[in-house]
Amino acid sequence: MQSENTFAALGLAEPLLRALTEAGYTTPTPIQAKGIPAVLAGGDLLAAAQTGTGKTASFSLPILHRLMESAQRTRTGRPRALILTPTRELAAQVDESVRTYGQHLPLRSFAVYGGVSVFGQSKALRRPVDILVATPGRLLDHISQGTLSLSDVEILVLDEADRMLDMGFIRDIRKIMDKMPAKRQNLLFSATFNDDIRALAGSLLTNPASVDVAPRNTTAERVDQSLMLVPQSKKRDLLVHLIQEQQWFQVLVFSRTKHGADRLAEQLTRAGIPTAALHGNKAQNARTRALDQFKRGKLQVLVATDIAARGIDVDSLPMVVNFELPNVPEDYVHRIGRTGRAGAEGKAVSLVCPENEMKQLRAIERLIQRTVERITVGGYTVDEASISRQRPPRDAKAPAQRNGHRHGRTNPEQPNGRSTDGKRGLHPQRAPRDGQGQGRDKPAGRHGGQGRDARPRRFGNVD
Ligand code: AMP
Repeated sequence: MQSENTFAALGLAEPLLRALTEAGYTTPTPIQAKGIPAVLAGGDLLAAAQTGTGKTASFSLPILHRLMESAQRTRTGRPRALILTPTRELAAQVDESVRTYGQHLPLRSFAVYGGVSVFGQSKALRRPVDILVATPGRLLDHISQGTLSLSDVEILVLDEADRMLDMGFIRDIRKIMDKMPAKRQNLLFSATFNDDIRALAGSLLTNPASVDVAPRNTTAERVDQSLMLVPQSKKRDLLVHLIQEQQWFQVLVFSRTKHGADRLAEQLTRAGIPTAALHGNKAQNARTRALDQFKRGKLQVLVATDIAARGIDVDSLPMVVNFELPNVPEDYVHRIGRTGRAGAEGKAVSLVCPENEMKQLRAIERLIQRTVERITVGGYTVDEASISRQRPPRDAKAPAQRNGHRHGRTNPEQPNGRSTDGKRGLHPQRAPRDGQGQGRDKPAGRHGGQGRDARPRRFGNVD
């Protein structure tokens, strides 16, 4: 008898099991253990799962299995399974996963998304495609050009549905749904749930099986989260310091704006840290190249905006940095979900400006229902308790990067860069009040502070 916790026990066909063995997967993740049998049974599915849980395989494997078993033939331009994703990167990633899992099956997967030539895609669509992965806009373009029809779709997946709604795709989704046969299997995956998602699920799904592998709106347990309170003007120096001292590789840094991402990538590159920026203004081939180099370890850091980062899937991404906190607290959950993926441990560090990000921090801590641990790095960070007590000296300069005499050197051996002076940061029971009398920070100056022998500025009683 097969033991329970195997892919074979879930009822998947031999060619899929072989592909999984080759991919090195031995045990189904919780979403796979629960989701695969539900999809194989043919009903609708509502899954609360964030990225990194193995959700892609939880729908790809049973879809491949069902299409393989069905006697139906796929006609040119008429896919039988449609997977909708919010971003190009995610579409490419899902397509790659489907190809990997289906490599021993005579089924074809293809992805259509914006930013690349429609012509090339149309040409590829002249051969039958069984599983189509698509972003909504480009899919509608193909339908209006007659290169695609959704009349044969048997299975629809909405992947990262919350993000699709955030990105304003609801009208496109409804248009797409109108072009499919009413009788089909629908699977909806979302990391977070609000009224809009519930309304969409209500109109799309019939008696869905429900799978909830992580408490909603809470962060992955495996991610070690911490934050540093640091004035905006010191964030760049602190980031360079952390990356260099702690030898961080494969760091995904989140920036709130495209412009900010570009600037930070330039600054890190100048500091000798191979970095690229990934955001919606970049040409598709530049995005693909950056992602590819990052995955292969040729880039140490990728600075990305929230939307661009959605499709990044790197096995065991070890480190996520929030260079700025997101305005939407749910995005924090998405961001840190990029690490601690499928069994791996991950770290998420947020650089929080006490002057203007405490409101976002409080909203995040409310959402995830926990206080994120504060870490101090002498010469850079602000002591939370002191924010409300005292103003920093006015003439302070940017901190020294190397051999900082009193700048609480962080130790690569120490998890999370907790200050090696014995301090483990603060563990406040309550989030502090916003901007209460904290001192104004003076920018480090145009010439930055990196490598300078300036005395570190001290805030309050840090160190
Ligand atoms: P996802 O949540 O679909 O974005 O997948 C997260 C990562 O986990 C991907 O890199 C997968 O290759 C990997 N993965 C998915 N399922 C398994 C599994 N059962 N065992 C090991 N790794 C997995």
